[in-house]
Amino acid sequence: MKPYEIIRDIFIVGGPEITDSRDGCVYLINLGDLVLIDSGAGWSSDKIIDHIEELGFEPQKLKMTLLTHCHIDHIGGAPGIKKKCGSKIYIHKLDAPPLESGDPILTAASWYQTRFDPTPIDVKLNFPEQILRIGKEKVVCLHTPGHTPGSMSIYIDRDGKRVLFGQDLHGPLLEEFGSNLNDWDRSTKKLLDLDADILCEGHFGIYKTKKGVVDYIMSYRRRYGVE
Ligand SMILES: [Zn+2]
Ligand SMILES: [Zn+2]
Repeated sequence: MKPYEIIRDIFIVGGPEITDSRDGCVYLINLGDLVLIDSGAGWSSDKIIDHIEELGFEPQKLKMTLLTHCHIDHIGGAPGIKKKCGSKIYIHKLDAPPLESGDPILTAASWYQTRFDPTPIDVKLNFPEQILRIGKEKVVCLHTPGHTPGSMSIYIDRDGKRVLFGQDLHGPLLEEFGSNLNDWDRSTKKLLDLDADILCEGHFGIYKTKKGVVDYIMSYRRRYGVE
């Protein structure tokens, strides 16, 4: 599959069907400056940059990579992309230490039989809700712990539609990741309250109706027994 535009100026540029089966989905937002949400597992960072160019954008305009959480399938490409494009790495402060130390378990790198070299973080997000202003638009980062302590969901309002990026909402919830079911329950409720029109998910694709978004989140709430 090729990269494509989901809604005006929001694109999918990487993921299991686009770049590498090991990659979580990678999304690009054009706000004049470019913002990347997640970065794949690391083997496809050059491909992701190629896709940005093929869509007609200058990779040098990529100013930030927002990492939704500390797992390798989402963070692996961030250092390589930073090296080539200069984009700063953002992550919630509670998920920063595994990247800074290159922890093989907490980054899940050992699961993927790879390693993640210790990487400094440019910006550690620190609030339940943090608004990043880029040009005239705003990107909202929400702390939504559960899958990991510093998991983050992101949304942007565009042409009357709310687009939510919720990468590993489905879990898994595992002790070795520091997962927490009570946190996950609260976080998914918060996301349902957003009443999003489109969910750009991390592994299973894009849900394009309000009902599709609710059904997706509710199916996991039932699976984890909080509904
Ligand atoms: Zn994932
Ligand atoms: Zn994950």
